[in-house]
Amino acid sequence: MPVSVPEPHPRPRAEVVIDLAAIRHNVSILARCAAQSGAGTMAVVKADGYGHGAVDVAIAALQAGAGALGVCSVDEALELRHSGIDAPVLAWLHAPGEDLAAGIAAGVDLGIYSVDQLDTAAAAAYLVGQPARVHLKVDTGLTRGGAYRSQWPGLVHAAATASDRGCVEVVAVWSHLAHADDPGHPIIEKQVRYFDEAYQVARDAGLRPLRHLANSAATLTRPDLHYDMVRPGIAVYGLSPVPGTDYRLAPAMTLRSQVAMLKRVPPGEGVSYGHVWHTDRETTLALVPAGYADGVPRVLTGRLDVWLGGRRRPVVGRVCMDQVMVDCGDDPVAIGDEVIFFGAGANGAPTAAEWADKLGTIHYEVVAGMVRPRLARTVLNRQLAAPSPVLDQQRAAR
Ligand SMILES: *Cc1c(COP(=O)(O)O)cnc(C)c1O
Repeated sequence: MPVSVPEPHPRPRAEVVIDLAAIRHNVSILARCAAQSGAGTMAVVKADGYGHGAVDVAIAALQAGAGALGVCSVDEALELRHSGIDAPVLAWLHAPGEDLAAGIAAGVDLGIYSVDQLDTAAAAAYLVGQPARVHLKVDTGLTRGGAYRSQWPGLVHAAATASDRGCVEVVAVWSHLAHADDPGHPIIEKQVRYFDEAYQVARDAGLRPLRHLANSAATLTRPDLHYDMVRPGIAVYGLSPVPGTDYRLAPAMTLRSQVAMLKRVPPGEGVSYGHVWHTDRETTLALVPAGYADGVPRVLTGRLDVWLGGRRRPVVGRVCMDQVMVDCGDDPVAIGDEVIFFGAGANGAPTAAEWADKLGTIHYEVVAGMVRPRLARTVLNRQLAAPSPVLDQQRAAR
């Protein structure tokens, strides 16, 4: 008798699904919003695109109207360059010893916070034989990166001198807000006042830089702070930058798995390690092969729902390294059924924002943490880039 080998199920055990159509939708909202005040859009794709995949997100963002990309490190910028992305890229936080020369040679703009860093960039530019394009960061009140008020005039004058000598090109003056998610906060006005003063110091030194300040929240709530360019991150991924406010953004990431086995269990059974949960009736339990090694936090034991078979259902018992159990009651659930841990949230399904609330963190951390060796990644709706704008126009005309 021939042995029949079961077809492999096409769905991985646990996977992150990224919908690039959602990314394009979100970026087009942001870019339109920025364009209304004459500003360009730099899509922020640091930390592997907040866990969504930097290269895919960057390409989708550029297709949808972003004109530039923002990342943290030169290495992140080089990943984009090595993928053939030639749009302007700004890398804004450098650790001592990082290879700024490689960034300069690849045409990456550098965020610069101090005279020391400026000197390092100028020396690297001299070796490369090409000026460093720098964005001078002023600390206007976040009290994190950037030149403090007392350090700003020194940085500006060093930059003006280096610019005269051709080692650097001062592209922009920029800063970052401390309370952007609270659009009426008085600290914002204080930061804007310092920002405008800092810009004037640069102008007085003979520089004519661009200005950028707004993250996602300020992009959507404070058009008066768009300046020449906005730097949205979280909104690109479809997550609301202002808690509780809906901007018609589409969450781009879904964490999903599938039912691997089912069992019918009587009342009174302890379930999973430590028996922290017992069945209180006869019920069907589904085994789902995704656990804390796949990004499902063990600390959410007893507090987690999944979307399975058209409704929310509780994860019961301890979250384990490789698996969880889901209580399905008497419903007809089948092996291979899709299990959504979080996603776009249609019909009240769980979202990354809900996880963040339960975890006492922000959705930024939830999605950025979904980069794990065992998690499969599936990217939906990649769009072929037109080989040239002319072809694009011809296609649109047809
Ligand atoms: C991460 C980051 C952003 C994007 O912030 P969101 O709140 O995600 O929009 C913008 N600017 C800087 C300097 C950042 O570090």
